[in-house]
Amino acid sequence: MNKKVRVRFAPSPTGGLHLGGVRTVLFNYLFAKQHQGDFIVRIEDTDQTRFVEGAEDYIFNTLEWCGLVPDESPKHGGPFAPYRQSERKAIYRQYAEELVNAGYAYYAFDTTEELEQMRNNYKTSENPSPQYNHTLRAKMRNSTCLSANDVSKLLADQTPYVIRIKMPEDQTVSFTDMIRGEVSFNTAQVDDKVLLKADGMPTYHLAVVVDDYLMKITHAFRGEEWLPSAPVHLLLWKYLGWEAEMPLWAHLPLILKPDGHGKLSKRDGDRLGFPVFAMDWKDPKSEELTVGFKERGFLPEAFVNLLAVLGWNDGTDNELFTIEELIEKFSMERVHKGGAKFDYEKAKWFNHEWIKKSSASQLNNKVAKILAQNNIEVKDNELLNTVIDLVKERCTLLSDFLMQSSFFFKNPEQFDTASIQPKWDATKNQFFIELANAFELSILWNSADLEKEFKELAAAHQLKPGELMLPLRIMLVGGKFGPGVFDIANLIGKEATVARIRTVVGLL
Ligand code: GLU
Repeated sequence: MNKKVRVRFAPSPTGGLHLGGVRTVLFNYLFAKQHQGDFIVRIEDTDQTRFVEGAEDYIFNTLEWCGLVPDESPKHGGPFAPYRQSERKAIYRQYAEELVNAGYAYYAFDTTEELEQMRNNYKTSENPSPQYNHTLRAKMRNSTCLSANDVSKLLADQTPYVIRIKMPEDQTVSFTDMIRGEVSFNTAQVDDKVLLKADGMPTYHLAVVVDDYLMKITHAFRGEEWLPSAPVHLLLWKYLGWEAEMPLWAHLPLILKPDGHGKLSKRDGDRLGFPVFAMDWKDPKSEELTVGFKERGFLPEAFVNLLAVLGWNDGTDNELFTIEELIEKFSMERVHKGGAKFDYEKAKWFNHEWIKKSSASQLNNKVAKILAQNNIEVKDNELLNTVIDLVKERCTLLSDFLMQSSFFFKNPEQFDTASIQPKWDATKNQFFIELANAFELSILWNSADLEKEFKELAAAHQLKPGELMLPLRIMLVGGKFGPGVFDIANLIGKEATVARIRTVVGLL
């Protein structure tokens, strides 16, 4: 019988979630849903020195905004609770002790000063940072070289110790990565990682293996930066006798700068505005409110879509996918090995496409909120829907709706008269005075009739309509933008149209 698919996203609450982290969430989520499996979020907070207040909430808020809701988590509960590693502290020690008893791990009593000394004493130009490994192990204070009596005495005296894995001197370990295929390591390259710290907290290495096992994880997808840790984890799975249960792994490629050179850094992130969704969450490290995708006016659907194609495609040129389509089409084998370039301009293209394909009613609340934040009251929701349909083609970001639609609901605060002035003359002045009067008397108020009236009056003044359109647009909108000018007049109504024409004629 096939096991139920169970995947996990295992963030450490050390800061905001950035693009790469959310993509890891997404790939986990898609894989789980495609296989009718479970998507678990486990908080890996065993490194208390790196804990950041608010980070966990931030992670869950981000997931919620993206619509990537976990089946099990500290927030959503589940049969394998607790899902926060700090609350599972008592679970890990027995496994570390088991490894010591079996000879796969050992007690190390070295003090911080002794470790420091080791690094100084054995540093050479070829090896500037010597590691605690098979070459130096015997020179340190640990249970591999101390006598059994000494060890018992140190333990009885409650001397602080850590438990380290005893990495084999020269062994090849390998596994099959779902993206990279066969990956091998020589254990000589890896140091004797600490598994259990002096305070009894496990390190990431021990906790991730124990929890993936206990939580019956079948597939583990994580960032490429964890590849070097894989040999440690592989050996732990083996030493603990759980090899047959080991999840299939996939190490996801890095996300690169737009030019393809180098990993996207936190600084690029701040510059391009994507590391986090700011919401009201402050990064205590920088004390700054970071502006994220959400605040920049991205739709969650667009954000999810653009993340999915950062390093993956469905084998065609298609780039636009709904979440349902992604669940159907996603496959880990189609994720590229090489890093994926992130391009903010391309990200905006996705958002524009999503705005265009969203219906007015889907966008209504979001646009109304932006307008309200800018003190523009929308009394007529139907009118807002009509406006949204009329202008959405012109909006790349949700925030563009402010400029593109506010003039439907209130008079422009400024008019770009400087763009009219150079070609303004008495004939045009007269034309617009008469146009305002004619519009005031109009019985039929719709785009087609308004255009007809305008053209007839222009002909009577022997003026080309083309020369009059820009001034009329600026009069109604305030600037050189917006949809068809008679559509605007039709929607803002007679009173506002006439008043705005007269205001600007007055200004000129
Ligand atoms: N806690 C690790 C992180 O923050 C998780 C890595 C993994 O998924 O194994 O990235």
